[in-house]
Amino acid sequence: MVIFRCILKGYCCKKYWIPVTHLDLLRLKIYANVDIKPSTISLYEASLYDDLTYPQVVFGGEKYFLALNSKDDGSCIFLLRNGKCSVHPYKPLVCRFYPFVYIENGDNISIEVNENALGECPGIIGNKRIIPEDIKSDLTKLARARIQELKMWGKVAKEWNESEYSKKEFDEVIQTFLEFITMKAEEDMKELVKKNLWIP
Ligand code: SF4
Repeated sequence: MVIFRCILKGYCCKKYWIPVTHLDLLRLKIYANVDIKPSTISLYEASLYDDLTYPQVVFGGEKYFLALNSKDDGSCIFLLRNGKCSVHPYKPLVCRFYPFVYIENGDNISIEVNENALGECPGIIGNKRIIPEDIKSDLTKLARARIQELKMWGKVAKEWNESEYSKKEFDEVIQTFLEFITMKAEEDMKELVKKNLWIP
């Protein structure tokens, strides 16, 4: 059976960029008191990541993925020097799966160890193919919320992309963008609370 204990080396927080939704940012704002400002986020050119299916936002006619910003050394802005995450209880949902992944197949969700994490994440030990039921259950619940949040984020991104603002460069409309996605996130959060799908 696989056992996972994060040993706070922070490899994953240094190696990967972290895609976020409007709801990930709202969670950080509400529960972790993070001031969501231009320097909190970053944009990754969608054309460089063909295999990713996250919703894309348009600025100046170009498509991007919205992500957390990173420090000069490439690590996440929330990674502390001791390897801990400064927003751990409220970190973006994508961070909460690692080193596992969910696979969506119709209404079914299966949980597996992330193949990319094998040999890379020092917190994984044991038989990688057998995942404890409590981990499966927690991550399946998380996956259902994540799937719903991504759908909502897709709609918000579409609305932004169809607006006149998307023709302008990021620097010109960043404040408007942050206000727009925060307003949408507050509306969507209420929906998720009603459906019992809101994850703090
Ligand atoms: S939010 Fe936390 S867990 Fe996620 S990459 Fe940043 S430091 Fe790591």
